[in-house]
This record gives sequence, structure tokens and C-alpha cells, in this order.
Amino acid sequence: MGVLDPIAGFGVTFKTMFRKTFTEQYPAKPKVTAPRFHGRHQLNRWPDGLEKCVGCELCAWACPADAIYVEGAQNTEDERFSPGERYGRVYQINYQRCILCGLCVEACPTRALTMTNEFELADDSRASLIYEKSRLLGPLLPGMEAPPHERRLGDDEQAYFLGLPNTGRPDDRAGDLGGTVPQPMNQGYLNRKRKEA
Ligand code: SF4
Ligand code: SF4
Repeated sequence: MGVLDPIAGFGVTFKTMFRKTFTEQYPAKPKVTAPRFHGRHQLNRWPDGLEKCVGCELCAWACPADAIYVEGAQNTEDERFSPGERYGRVYQINYQRCILCGLCVEACPTRALTMTNEFELADDSRASLIYEKSRLLGPLLPGMEAPPHERRLGDDEQAYFLGLPNTGRPDDRAGDLGGTVPQPMNQGYLNRKRKEA
């Protein structure tokens, strides 16, 4: 150890002493997570409201914790939930098992599955920690209609998928998205406040 090493050590202490302190006010104020934080999952929709999930089960196979259960089914002309042939009839994520690693998101071929910033998942019931499809589906934004319904973005699969705009701007074929309000960062905090009110 050199003679100046203790002085260097104290230098770190002194520098820290004069820094502005930062106190996290959570849970009184919502915690702002990093933009790419791995929180609760969301099943996404196309701009007309049809579901992006095709029930392929790749997410379930990729999951190291066996936390996902999927059952696919065939769309019919009378009852269509996704623009292609199949959709996810049953979709469950068990948050008692999930480690929020994101491997399922990487495995999904249609970008149907993504993760939100919501992290307040604690609950006192095992059953309510198994999220069904109804809780995982994204909200209906302006221009979206709850399935089942016809494809609104093109008569067949080719028109539907190839009609997507070039990357860099949102797909507004179902209507003007100008008034769309982005989801708040921490939906869990807002849900808790709503329950307390
Ligand atoms: S985040 Fe990881 S553990 Fe959770 S469901 Fe996806 S793959 Fe499984
Ligand atoms: S979320 Fe993606 S990977 Fe999982 S079943 Fe649906 S389409 Fe397949």
C-alpha cells in the first residue's frame, strides 16, 4: 500500500459528502423505471384491434421457468381473432414462476408479446398471479375494435400484412392516432391508487 492510498480513499468519501442527495419517494410517488425495464407482459394488437398472437407456443417453449401456457385455435370466417389462420385461444402467464427474463419476448415471431414497465405484481392469492389472456391483452386504442371481427386493414392476409407503412411511423390505417395518449410508465402504481380511493 502506498503512502497516498489512504488519502485517495478519503477523497472518494469527501467527494460523495458534497453531492446532492437523492431520496426515492416510492411508494408515495410512482417509481420511474428505465425505459427498457422488464415488467409485466402485454399481448399486442394490430391497429384494427385483431390480436397479433398466432398461438404458436414458441414463447412457452422458450421459457426457462415453464411459466407460459398457450392453446392455439383456428380462426373461422364467422369468428376471427387474428388476421392469419390461427390465434391464441388460451394464454396464461404464471407470475409465481416468471423471472421476467424476457426470453419469451425474443422468441415471439410476430411481436405479439412485449413487456411493460409495470412491476407491482405482488398479490396475496396464488390464483390471481396466473394472468389470463384477458388481463394480458393491450387496451383498445382509437380505431381498434374488440375481436372477433373481419380484417379491417386489407381483404386478405397479403394486403393486410404488406400494407404496413415503412418503419419509422405508426400504422394509422385504422384511423388517426394523433389523440392517442401513451400508457403511463407504471400502471401498477395507478391501479393501486385506484383501489385505495
Ligand atoms: S419473462 Fe422469462 S420466465 Fe417470464 S414468462 Fe417470459 S421466458 Fe418465462
Ligand atoms: S405470444 Fe408470440 S410466441 Fe407466444 S404463442 Fe403468441 S405468437 Fe407465438
